[in-house]
Amino acid sequence: MWVVPLKLCLARAMPRVGMRHSNNSFVPPHCPNPNCKYHLQLDAGWRFKCIGTFGRQVAPHRIQRFLCLHCRRSFSTQTFSTTYWLKRPDILPQLLTKTTGCMANRQIARDLKVAPSTIDRQLSRLGRHCLLYHAATMQSAEPARRVAIDGFVSFEHSQYWPFHHHLAIEPESDFIVYFTDSEVRRSGTMTPAQKRKRERLEAALGRPDPKAVYGDVKHLLEVVAGSQPHLTVLSDDHRAYPQAIKGLLCEVTHLVTSSKERRDADNPLFPVNLADMLLRHSSANHKRETIAWSKRRQASAERLAVFLVWRNYMKSRREKRPRGPTPAEARGTVDHRVTVEELLGRRWFVSRTSLPARWVDYYWRAISTRALPRQRRHELSYAA
Ligand SMILES: [Zn+2]
Repeated sequence: MWVVPLKLCLARAMPRVGMRHSNNSFVPPHCPNPNCKYHLQLDAGWRFKCIGTFGRQVAPHRIQRFLCLHCRRSFSTQTFSTTYWLKRPDILPQLLTKTTGCMANRQIARDLKVAPSTIDRQLSRLGRHCLLYHAATMQSAEPARRVAIDGFVSFEHSQYWPFHHHLAIEPESDFIVYFTDSEVRRSGTMTPAQKRKRERLEAALGRPDPKAVYGDVKHLLEVVAGSQPHLTVLSDDHRAYPQAIKGLLCEVTHLVTSSKERRDADNPLFPVNLADMLLRHSSANHKRETIAWSKRRQASAERLAVFLVWRNYMKSRREKRPRGPTPAEARGTVDHRVTVEELLGRRWFVSRTSLPARWVDYYWRAISTRALPRQRRHELSYAA
């Protein structure tokens, strides 16, 4: 759930006695060390000092260093920047539009003349940043009282490993509130040879949990409901949904629309159908018959986080009204369209932001892909 706000908006500069500024007016808002008492505590008692500068190849060329006088951790202005430790800080701002403009990772790498692994790493960082940005925004936002939910079908590694991204959308604004995912078993029409291959793979690597959809949709709705006493849920007739809803603590009005109903603008599930279409249209990894499918569900979640922020805060709600409000503006969560510069204007610290449980897994890259023996997790202690 969108739990206890950490008053992130209070992360402001405090006047400090004896502080020197070398070349700009940057004042560190807090100590970056999660183990220091001045990491979360924002009061005038925090003392730090400037300890010189260092030079680097890209602008700004001189970076101010600081020392926390409480925990003795040294840091710099870069520690509070989204481009912390990046040799190519120019890539991150370009990734957002390229990713949501349906370019695959290798196409972006060719376009920017960098190694594909650079794009993989920076896209993963952008995804983590977007998870934190949305979670931090939701801590002070109005909760959604009505949501339409749906399972967006894709696959990881090969078509033998399909999965669903469960999306919760507020119908009145088209705002994507939260998402989770579930592994599912390959189904549908298969040739005898495909069935045999599925058996072989499942015998070697295990079968997806048949209750995964139930558990992940329940978690999705728990986070959306938060502490509200009542929630209205619009969905299709998937058999796991009533069960998941029954497990919730709040009172739920469940409005079911058959998945066989015509999917036009009059369909009550139009907001999720629209989000599904837009997601497929905007993401290279979800296109039909693509060769850029997700190799890991983890990376698909990171791309989806980028899509969520772009869709909610940066893109107009209606395609035919490009200057119209974004979903976040339509629901009153923000009062303006967020720009790339604003989105990347500050680094969000995971230790200062409450993430829902599944997003904690996404942040630390803890989602495993069965078919891969080795999976890279996010274990760097200083990096974003
Ligand atoms: Zn400190």
